[in-house]
Amino acid sequence: MELTQLTIDAIREGLAARKFSAEELVRAHQGEIERKDKDVRAYLSLSPERALEQARKVDRQIAAGEKLGPLAGVPVAIKDVLLTKGLATTCASKILKGYVPPYDATTVARLESAGACVLGKTNCDEFAMGSSTENSGFFTTHNPHALDRVPGGSSGGSAAAVAANMAVASLGSDTGGSIRQPAALCGVVGMMGTYGRVSRYGLVAFASSLDHVGPFGRSVRDVAQVLQIMAGRDPLDSTSADVPVPDYVAALGGENDLKGVRVGVPKEYFAGLNPEIGANIEKGIDLLVKQGARRVDISLPHTDYAIACYYIICTAEASSNLARYDGVRYGYRAPEYSDLHDMYRKTRDGGFGAEVKRRIMLGTYVLSSGYYDAYYLKAQKVRTLITRDYLEAFEDVDVIVTPTSPIPAFKLGERVDNPLEMYLADIYTVTASLAGIPGISVPCGRTKGDPAKNEPPLPVGMQILASHFDETRLLQVAHAFEKAGRFEAA
Ligand code: GLN
Repeated sequence: MELTQLTIDAIREGLAARKFSAEELVRAHQGEIERKDKDVRAYLSLSPERALEQARKVDRQIAAGEKLGPLAGVPVAIKDVLLTKGLATTCASKILKGYVPPYDATTVARLESAGACVLGKTNCDEFAMGSSTENSGFFTTHNPHALDRVPGGSSGGSAAAVAANMAVASLGSDTGGSIRQPAALCGVVGMMGTYGRVSRYGLVAFASSLDHVGPFGRSVRDVAQVLQIMAGRDPLDSTSADVPVPDYVAALGGENDLKGVRVGVPKEYFAGLNPEIGANIEKGIDLLVKQGARRVDISLPHTDYAIACYYIICTAEASSNLARYDGVRYGYRAPEYSDLHDMYRKTRDGGFGAEVKRRIMLGTYVLSSGYYDAYYLKAQKVRTLITRDYLEAFEDVDVIVTPTSPIPAFKLGERVDNPLEMYLADIYTVTASLAGIPGISVPCGRTKGDPAKNEPPLPVGMQILASHFDETRLLQVAHAFEKAGRFEAA
């Protein structure tokens, strides 16, 4: 049995039947990391002791015949923007080098209480700002399907770890697409729940009104199981919603999950994208229709303004959130300075990378007096219009289907010099973030590739969106789609 390719269900059954121990499972994943991560570079740091300790605890529970947690023994990876008590947390930024948090993020704590084993912390774009993981202050992560390509971002390390079987599941954060887009580029499933569905306590803030924590997995069912553990009100996060959490996992797999489901296809999401991706998504929609869903062509008229609106709001919030890195409270401090101001300046200059600085400047500008109304306030109004587009659409449809990304995994270095082009990688994901609705990306075939150019077939992701707090429907449709069969490139 290949211990690094199991689903969460298979792990549960295998442990119960004593086919393997939790320790063997963790060690198998550590072996895979040892073999592959020198090429993929998904992990920023490893926590072997923490993972093994937890695995041994699970094994003792099994020996004693105790009831196991729902994620008992499941090896997971955590994006390095989530706080882990006693384990360095850097946000892939030099400014947090040496910072060791005194507490765990709620999501990490919930996963560990359910029995999951934390293998380590994964690489990402610095403070989750980016779409390729190339903005990491430390090194770049490579796409396991094509090592000369990006894994997407900002949660590229978490997506790559799952794609390369170096973790069963992982956590990422999504502010404008950072879970869904790397999931698409790495050929795994990635999900963001409704804003407020999952606690942000212990998630290092980038843009608080947009930030989400969510899971990656190799199947929809695995993702549903991880979300199940994390979802629900957290008294430590006042924006976490006090909305009952249904049993997502039990809701999966009904014979008629797609019967009569109205699938909205917004025309704005099919213009100007890579034609192979468009063809794959069309094939995916046909597959849904074949299973009994009904296609409804819709329009989300304010989509065109989404990138501009998102980059005003997220930079505004980032400029405020990142003011706390001053060399006094956390991590790095410039070694030499003349006075307090000089210390702030040198610390922030030496600690932050170019993209973070760009966003702090942009955000400070759009919030400054005289420009606030023209940019920030205007963007907030546009955000409302984008949200309304969705609310109106969901009066006529149950889910909305789009490509996750307009392009497949691009070559490392291809877009780093052009921030605007990089921003466009999120064109299909930022709208759901602005509206606060849940979204998932599921594998939807591959591109053909071109052997003459040494281009392998690359994963394509289909994004499914649902109305606020309708994660159950989202997961049902995604699961039924996955079950209907992965198909060959269009
Ligand atoms: N790529 C987007 C950005 O750079 C989204 C990032 C994210 O979701 N964290 O802001």
